[in-house]
Amino acid sequence: MVMADVLLRVGGDGGAKPRAVAPASCYPRPMAHPDVYFRHLSRHFGPQYWWPGRSRWEVMVGAILTQNTAWRNVELAIAELRRRHLLSRAAMLAAPVEELRAAIRSAGFYRQKARCLQTLAAWVQEHHGGSLTRLFRQPTAIVRKELLALPGIGPETADSILLYAGGHASFVVDAYTVRLLSRHGEAVAQGPGDGYAAIQSWFAAGLGQDVGRWQEMHALIVATGKEFCRKSVPRCTTCPLGPMLPPAAVISRPQPRIARRGPQRGCGAGEFRGLPAPALLSEPKARPPRAVRED
Ligand code: SF4
Repeated sequence: MVMADVLLRVGGDGGAKPRAVAPASCYPRPMAHPDVYFRHLSRHFGPQYWWPGRSRWEVMVGAILTQNTAWRNVELAIAELRRRHLLSRAAMLAAPVEELRAAIRSAGFYRQKARCLQTLAAWVQEHHGGSLTRLFRQPTAIVRKELLALPGIGPETADSILLYAGGHASFVVDAYTVRLLSRHGEAVAQGPGDGYAAIQSWFAAGLGQDVGRWQEMHALIVATGKEFCRKSVPRCTTCPLGPMLPPAAVISRPQPRIARRGPQRGCGAGEFRGLPAPALLSEPKARPPRAVRED
């Protein structure tokens, strides 16, 4: 059934009784506004106080270390860096790479991540006189381009650095975001092409100018992904976004073990439609105070 057909059937013929009623799943549904998601989630979860880190540099370190690992492993690595007095750009640059690797071992991929951290520290020193203020004073697009040119930094890491260390309005799109929007049938999550950029633009158009709101929105989505919008069995019945599910979605309830062997149904898994998964996953979850210092 094509959309024109659906509209004809739903709209009828100018006041006369409609010839037919389309099933609920066929009704055209206006896309929800990002602000609606924000209000539902912030009412439920409250302030998230992201990103964990005592300084801007520590936030940048965390954004790199959290690639492909759980945040608890990053916390261990950061604690070890602190214990060894390596949690500053100068110390990271001066340290033998073997020592840096040993300190961040718990975060996994420690060889690549150690190289990435030292490259980033050297680059800030060389190109911005060692000043994060100078780095982040540039326009968002320039900083993003520069970060993306560095080894080991993809869009998700670059945007995490921009948003939480630099205070730039650059929305972070991670696997939680893609999963949530996809399950809610938002058109933005179904379009072909650069899915990451499309989702970013959707949030950018709806979140306003307050960067704190952008920071909070991403943190709230991660909280939702961890508590409700789980990969295999989403908890839609208790989720604060349950009322926002499209009519066609079948709310998944925990299935008996035997039922999980087959494909999941409804708003569960397998609903990505042509959307490339983000390259890097981040899962920060602690709630320490916001970063305020540079180093
Ligand atoms: S758990 Fe269900 S209601 Fe909650 S965000 Fe995921 S799909 Fe939506």
